[in-house]
Amino acid sequence: MSHITLVKGREKSLLRKHPWIFSRAIAELNGKPKSGETIDVYSAKGEWLAKAAYSPQSQIRARVWSFEQTETIDFDFFVRKIKAAKAMREQLISSVSNAYRLIAGESDGIPGLTLDLYNNVIVGQFLSAGVEFHKQTIVKALNQVFPDMAIYERSDVAVRKKEGLSQTTGWLSGQADSKVWITENGLKILVDIEQGHKTGFYLDQRDNRQIAAQYCQNKQVLNCFSYTGTFGLYALQAGADKVTNVDVSDTALNTASLQYAENGFNDKFEQVNADVFKLLRQYKEQDIQFDVIVLDPPKFAENKGQVIRACRGYKDINMLALQLLKPGGTLLTFSCSGLVDADLFQKVVADAAVDAGVNAQIIQKLTQAKDHPISLNYPEAFYLKGLVVKKAV
Ligand code: SAH
Repeated sequence: MSHITLVKGREKSLLRKHPWIFSRAIAELNGKPKSGETIDVYSAKGEWLAKAAYSPQSQIRARVWSFEQTETIDFDFFVRKIKAAKAMREQLISSVSNAYRLIAGESDGIPGLTLDLYNNVIVGQFLSAGVEFHKQTIVKALNQVFPDMAIYERSDVAVRKKEGLSQTTGWLSGQADSKVWITENGLKILVDIEQGHKTGFYLDQRDNRQIAAQYCQNKQVLNCFSYTGTFGLYALQAGADKVTNVDVSDTALNTASLQYAENGFNDKFEQVNADVFKLLRQYKEQDIQFDVIVLDPPKFAENKGQVIRACRGYKDINMLALQLLKPGGTLLTFSCSGLVDADLFQKVVADAAVDAGVNAQIIQKLTQAKDHPISLNYPEAFYLKGLVVKKAV
């Protein structure tokens, strides 16, 4: 097997079981490993450290599969990881939903792999050279653990380029309807696995949708960056008077309408195709107010260079939302930018309140759902932060 030797001192993160090896940490490569092939990793002193997947084009030159020298990366390895992940989700999620994140990459021991299970279909994103190399084995392992599931690939994501991989989509095993109905807390939700964002749906907000709903009975709710409107769906289930969904995607809003009808909420919602930044300003000019506002924007910061601009964006929408809230109203505000940490996000929201001239208090802090675990060795997996903010009466 080919192997790499690290620069002196660069074994430290591996001894803490962090799974990434950057190109600049490597002193020497022995052999000619193909993209994704398994290699051994040695310290400068010649100690064996790990087995990893080699990624010749990426800054993250290798991702660790195992810190056990005797472990082989094969069918049984993937079956073990998938079974362990499945058991955790079945214990925690199955009673509320037939959809969950089955594999959350590094945090579930399969770096670069995202698998979301929607009722009868598993949707995968293969984001690293390692999982691309083992794709057929991973599909076979899934067939063994989930014999009745069809498997669809949504590797149409830009990050594949960093691994030297092209974008690809299609059925990997079996076939099913690409529009899948799932249930979450008694609600029927339509997931478009072919055309939807990412793998089709935002499972990470499951718990937060339920928490948000607690504030919505008899209320006017503004659901910004609504995608298919699921925060609003939960709000109506909890007895909201009216939900206004705002998104720039007509496809997402059409799915929302279909879904609301299917759940029997026919006349209590409005779908607005608009840019949230502009619409909030317009509402302010028109003096339109709401009892509850949800802000769940897309990732504003993709890299460190974008953090400041992202914070400006967060501050702007939070300031406007706090102004549009009725006294005593509730803001549920989120950031899914991993690079904007929880402290920074809270500071930005605090600054927004100052600029808005609003007195408010945080009454709850929110995070990603349990099927998006954060490996203690891989803190980067923590990305979703939310605050429930109550405006003073
Ligand atoms: N809250 C959603 C997920 C939101 S994802 C849920 O629980 O499922 C972010 C959404 O913001 C996407 O649907 C995207 O189309 C939308 N979006 C991005 N920029 C926008 C903008 N400036 N104005 C309105 N919507 C926007």
